[in-house]
Amino acid sequence: MGKQLLNQCQDCGAWTLSTKCHKCGGTARAAAPIKWSPEDHHAQYRRRLEGVEGEGWSQKLPTLPDMTEEE
Ligand SMILES: [Zn+2]
Repeated sequence: MGKQLLNQCQDCGAWTLSTKCHKCGGTARAAAPIKWSPEDHHAQYRRRLEGVEGEGWSQKLPTLPDMTEEE
């Protein structure tokens, strides 16, 4: 993982690039990384809610109009 440069002061909340606050001299710590995952942990619940795994779900999906044209 790359080094996280942006730190936030524990005392006044100011953002700084060093570990020492330039405003109040307090200790600045790396901001917590945004929790993000490529996995959608709630996907299985949402699918269940929408009945994706049930019979007939695919029939409810919108379909494209038939593009085949007779010449
Ligand atoms: Zn500060």
